[in-house]
Amino acid sequence: MTIPDHALDAVVVGSGPNGLAAAITLARAGLGVRVYEGAPTAGGGLRSAELTLPGFVHDPCATVVATALVSPFFGSLNLPGLGVELVHPDVPAAHVLTSDRAVILHRSVDETASGLGRDGAAWRRLVGPLARDAKRLMPWILGPVPRPTRHLVAAARFGPVALLPMAALARLAFREQPARALLGALAAHAMVPLESPGSAAYGLVLATAAHTVGWPVVRGGSQRLADALVAEIRRLGGEVVTDAPVAGLADLPPARAVLLDVTPRQLVALAGDRAPAPYIRRLELFRYGPGVCKVDWALDGPVPWRNPDLARAGTVHLGGELAHLAAAERAVAASRLPSRPFVILVQATAMDPTRAPAGRHTAWAYTHVPHGSDVDATDLIEGEIERAAPGFRDRVLARHVRTAVGHEAYNPNYVGGDIGGGLATLSQVIARPTLALDPYRTPLRGVYLCSSSTPPGGGVHGMAGHRAAISALRREFGIHA
Ligand SMILES: Cc1cc2nc3c(=O)[nH]c(=O)nc-3n(C[C@H](O)[C@H](O)[C@H](O)COP(=O)(O)OP(=O)(O)OC[C@H]3O[C@@H](n4cnc5c(N)ncnc54)[C@H](O)[C@@H]3O)c2cc1C
Repeated sequence: MTIPDHALDAVVVGSGPNGLAAAITLARAGLGVRVYEGAPTAGGGLRSAELTLPGFVHDPCATVVATALVSPFFGSLNLPGLGVELVHPDVPAAHVLTSDRAVILHRSVDETASGLGRDGAAWRRLVGPLARDAKRLMPWILGPVPRPTRHLVAAARFGPVALLPMAALARLAFREQPARALLGALAAHAMVPLESPGSAAYGLVLATAAHTVGWPVVRGGSQRLADALVAEIRRLGGEVVTDAPVAGLADLPPARAVLLDVTPRQLVALAGDRAPAPYIRRLELFRYGPGVCKVDWALDGPVPWRNPDLARAGTVHLGGELAHLAAAERAVAASRLPSRPFVILVQATAMDPTRAPAGRHTAWAYTHVPHGSDVDATDLIEGEIERAAPGFRDRVLARHVRTAVGHEAYNPNYVGGDIGGGLATLSQVIARPTLALDPYRTPLRGVYLCSSSTPPGGGVHGMAGHRAAISALRREFGIHA
């Protein structure tokens, strides 16, 4: 340890993007900060590793850092100065409709609309204004809801439609499958049934991000971004200690503020009998969502897509029309494996060849599975890819599979394999993790929750950590950051 315990003002448990963002915000205010990370490397869901073969760099979790680019926290960092280079695919995303038919999500609203036939004008009307207002909207969206905003017109364009179930919005707004499936698949990232109120929100946010900042990846792997955040903490005088799992709050050195990048279930365990019983009961009502089963591949060539447009996309969604996607998400929510899965595939070497030896490629894909499932869904995932890319399996040099149960073993924040820090239903978006004016503060003196189980939820944006740190600075130190 480089900071003596007596000089510590704040301690952060967990070094995911939110924990690291919290530490940077605290250190910028001049505090002595130490981060404890249980794993051997820092980064949480923002790490890279040679999961398959030597020379193949895989991101076990996040690869696409679109939410970072719309985040005011990441906007406050000089990423190029920290050695982080972002690389953009030709097009952010594509959705496979049939084995050879696909619809493309371009950077430009107009180009996307022009591929949507009779629904082009409706796409422009629905997503165009959100993209135009993104600078005003995103800081509001990436915070606790409901919350007042000065940008009433922008908020009024987003709020009412975002509250709709995606299945209903897609059918109301569009007449044909391509636009319905394109937006439906974006919403399905949230891992809630597309018939749930509020399920449209995630789809609209991801579409808006694609049209404004794109869906880039970090050259060389996501770990580079985590390492840059750690370097920034150190530059500000803070420290990050790895291989240091924290078993209880009582084990931490004394500090005026403790910020926990963990989910409610872990908070209860860490607090032991220090947490008031009514608060524990409220946290115990917090619900976790479905899990994911993910496969990482080392490939001896690019994915052999039947439709060449798919090779241009960083992210490819598979699973067919809106009705198929909705059925898949309903099945998973009802603890069943869908017969036809919704698959999210990322082909990072399409834009970042440094992640594999010359001529070779990597790709990963995951599908949603029931909470706590130990099912290996490789056949389901690869079967769906083979429909659109026959011969894909022949390109596989090696694969690495992580089930939902395996995800929790890899990172204790992925409870039951839920990678979002808790179910993103409308009620849990508003009350995350409990209904409170300051959702980051806990009734334990000086203790704050700063993970994706607080607003704005999952994704690499650091905003939960940043806002929790702002709350701690104000309440514990009288500093208004
Ligand atoms: C397969 C997969 C793909 C994903 N893809 C994307 C993507 O492309 N884009 C995107 O934006 N997001 C993606 N995500 C989600 C993203 O990774 C998470 O939303 C994000 O990392 C959450 O950040 P966090 O800081 O809240 O928690 P985490 O990143 O989960 O970090 C929590 C950290 O706390 C540590 N910890 C927990 N308990 C303790 C303890 N008691 N003591 C010490 N350390 C502890 C853990 O080891 C972990 O390092 C993906 C996630 C997965 C799993």
